Amino acid sequence: PMLRVAIMGLGSYGTRVAEAMQDCKKAKLVGVISGTPSKITDWQSKYGIPKKNCYNYENFDAIKDNDDIDAVYVITPNGLHCEQTIRVARAGKHVICEKPMGINAEEGQKMVDACKAANVKLLIGYRMHFEPKTVHVIQMRKDDKFGQPKFFQGQSGFVIGDPTQWRLDKELAGGGAMMDIGIYSINGARYILGEDPIWVTAQETKTDPVKFKEGVDETIQFQMGFPSGAVANCLSTYNMNNLDRFFMTGSKGWMEMKPSTGYGPIQGRTHKGELTQPHVTHQTLQMDGMAELIFNGKQPIVPVDGEEGVKDMKIIDAIFKAAKTGDKVEINI
Ligand code: NAD
Repeated sequence: PMLRVAIMGLGSYGTRVAEAMQDCKKAKLVGVISGTPSKITDWQSKYGIPKKNCYNYENFDAIKDNDDIDAVYVITPNGLHCEQTIRVARAGKHVICEKPMGINAEEGQKMVDACKAANVKLLIGYRMHFEPKTVHVIQMRKDDKFGQPKFFQGQSGFVIGDPTQWRLDKELAGGGAMMDIGIYSINGARYILGEDPIWVTAQETKTDPVKFKEGVDETIQFQMGFPSGAVANCLSTYNMNNLDRFFMTGSKGWMEMKPSTGYGPIQGRTHKGELTQPHVTHQTLQMDGMAELIFNGKQPIVPVDGEEGVKDMKIIDAIFKAAKTGDKVEINI
């Protein structure tokens, strides 16, 4: 069967996902949830979406009576994900939710619990977990090609524009660069090293306190320590361009990717040579992979479920605490 998906939030990323889904073999865009009537009619004519599959933010609970929709993909500002995910779960539909899943671990856990209680799946939009070069490197690590991973370096950032956008609003974004882009280095460290951190340290710098208000991080450098003794050193920023790079060295080999998490093509190499896996639009692979997961229980190489999302939120909570206090923060995720 096809996974029949409604997209909630018809902004820039929602539009990208809709386009990518046109090439999916196992997932299909069938509905929309939006607060903007003109966008709904545009999408209806562009994607052939019937009126009965169109909702707004007030009435979408009624999706529970719609047998033509299996899942809702939440692609709204971060601060809205938790409430919207819980409402979708209560309507009995699977939820795919964009990263970061919420604005802290407490929200993430509430979302996991609500989806469990409603007996629906909760998947987080970790598209890199389906990307061929990334999958290849993770498989190499699993096959011990790098030996014991020792050190990961992640750099994630870009210069953010318009100071009035929701990404710079604490309520809607939950933070700044860390929530939006730094999370890629956190998640990347975990899938490249194959472990979860047990401590973090962090240092914050802010050069523009007008643009980056209280609680909205501009630049944070952070370190993570892992049970094996591996360490990671990462940079998250909204104030520097061309930062999209992963590096890892282990006892037997190494890898580097740049770009490592952009829309692609991803590029990189290992001690064995260039990564040559073909580029396929990430969101197309992701949505077909998520359909396989929902219908056949086929897991991607590393998880994309709500619990995976909560781990990243716990690490972000700890990084914010470490940056504020200067302390080394122990975590148990
Ligand atoms: P965007 O601003 O382009 O779109 C957000 C949409 O939400 C807009 O259509 C807006 O109208 C709607 N919205 C609903 N209620 C709103 C409110 N109260 N305030 C503001 N907007 C409201 O943002 P985006 O870039 O599409 O990001 C949306 C989500 O997708 C974020 O969580 C972001 O982290 C995530 N994202 C993920 C990736 C990825 O590669 N996985 C890439 C980009 C964005």
